[in-house]
Amino acid sequence: MDRQKRSDWKYRASAVLFTLLIAGSAIGCSSDKLAESTKTSDTQAAAQSPKRTSEEEERIRSEALAKIAEGNGQNETEPTAQADPDQVVEADAAGSEPVQENGLFYKDGILIVNKKYSVPADYAPGVDPTAQAQVTQLLQDMASQGMNVSYDTSNFRSYDTQSGLYFGYVGAYGQAEADTFSARPGYSEHQTGLAFDLKDSAGNLITSPTEAQWLLDNSWKYGFIVRYQEGKEAITGYQAEPWHLRYIGDRAQEIAQSGLTLEEFLGVEGGDYVD
Ligand SMILES: [Zn+2]
Repeated sequence: MDRQKRSDWKYRASAVLFTLLIAGSAIGCSSDKLAESTKTSDTQAAAQSPKRTSEEEERIRSEALAKIAEGNGQNETEPTAQADPDQVVEADAAGSEPVQENGLFYKDGILIVNKKYSVPADYAPGVDPTAQAQVTQLLQDMASQGMNVSYDTSNFRSYDTQSGLYFGYVGAYGQAEADTFSARPGYSEHQTGLAFDLKDSAGNLITSPTEAQWLLDNSWKYGFIVRYQEGKEAITGYQAEPWHLRYIGDRAQEIAQSGLTLEEFLGVEGGDYVD
């Protein structure tokens, strides 16, 4: 990414921050309610939402994305450093379609959600308890090794919550740009309850090279993979997100050490939306 694009990103990050401060109370609303929500005062929004507000989520994400944009090209992390060349992992043959069960798509028993495979709007399992226990253990171990992490993760998001986030970004960036870093409602891994965005103690999404590298090297020991890695954007459909972990379970080690994306490993289609 060149300097012009980087400064452009900083400008956009500022612009989206401003826009999202206005749209902050729109969580769970459809896009046509965004304009309406601008009338809501900050105090009203705070009173309505005792937990983390959507505007805070947006701020955190905007800052993290700006950091990622700044860091591009500086090669601060080696996304495939954990790959073991001696270990032969056979990716599944491409061509066999995932099986569908109750509107969810599985390949080899692994739930797949990307821009080609969605989840039903009414699918709302909440945070997976096993995945939560594993991420808590992972965070304890990171903290005990002196790393800057918080136990407050961004985890399960309902269809409506994702809708509020996504259309907020579309309003700020336009759809084409928003699609590179925010899932359309029904296409977010967060709706499965198996995805966690990790933050530092200040509440910012994790982007620092030390923590990011630790996650690449170690998160599989807890059953996770770093889902969106640098250099894999065309396959995953998203910009790199060092903070986003996806719970897989026992097969996380194979996947992580293969150096492949989940799509490549399972032999399922990724990339962009069909329309
Ligand atoms: Zn995420």
